[in-house]
Amino acid sequence: RGTQRRDEMLRAVLLGPPGAGKGTQAVRLVEKYEIPHISTGDIFRKNIKEGTELGKKAQEYMNAGALVPDELVVDLVKDRLQQDDCKNGFLLDGFPRTIFQAEKLDEFLSESNLKMDIVINLQVEKEALIKRLTGRRVCKDCGASYHIVNIPPKKEGVCDICGGELIQRKDDNIETVENRINVYEEQTAPLIGYYKEAGSLVDFDGEASLDEVFDAIVQAIGEQE
Ligand code: AMP
Repeated sequence: RGTQRRDEMLRAVLLGPPGAGKGTQAVRLVEKYEIPHISTGDIFRKNIKEGTELGKKAQEYMNAGALVPDELVVDLVKDRLQQDDCKNGFLLDGFPRTIFQAEKLDEFLSESNLKMDIVINLQVEKEALIKRLTGRRVCKDCGASYHIVNIPPKKEGVCDICGGELIQRKDDNIETVENRINVYEEQTAPLIGYYKEAGSLVDFDGEASLDEVFDAIVQAIGEQE
């Protein structure tokens, strides 16, 4: 069969700096493996939009390009992972982002007798990240991601998928982008070593085309055990 894992579980983490293409690959992967896409950034943005207490707390950190404190993130993800639709697996995008978060995730998984199948590490150089993030546009309604040069929508300013308006994320301006990349290097990049040691990390050239990266990920997933 084409999709070797169709009836199996896939539990995966997407790791990589902001702008590496995690969200873009996530959309395709969750469609293929029929698992929920759990993006902590999306969850926070939704809470900000809805004006919830969590959104109010997260907002200032996000606008500054800083990480939201671990204690606001970990329980949120644990609750999400206990929902019914995660029984057949899940794809985490943007979580974990600190060693602390990774340890809490490991604790949760081992308590539930589960393990991560793969940690997908997307590698992209800093210059490319800056170009990608500052040129990124996202759909206000469905969250689909575009790039003014690399992945333009069919009609300028309009989402191909749902017809929603395309906007620039508040944290995609050059200053915040540089800060986010620094925060990644200091707080998130250590996860590469952490997961390498655990044996679940696979590196991908995130500067290859969207299709090439996707195909390489699918192949690597098929080769896990
Ligand atoms: P993203 O959409 O993944 O780029 O996340 C956007 C912003 O949300 C980040 O810059 C952080 O401020 C916040 N955020 C998302 N996920 C996490 C996380 N796991 N830990 C801390 N902050 C997060």
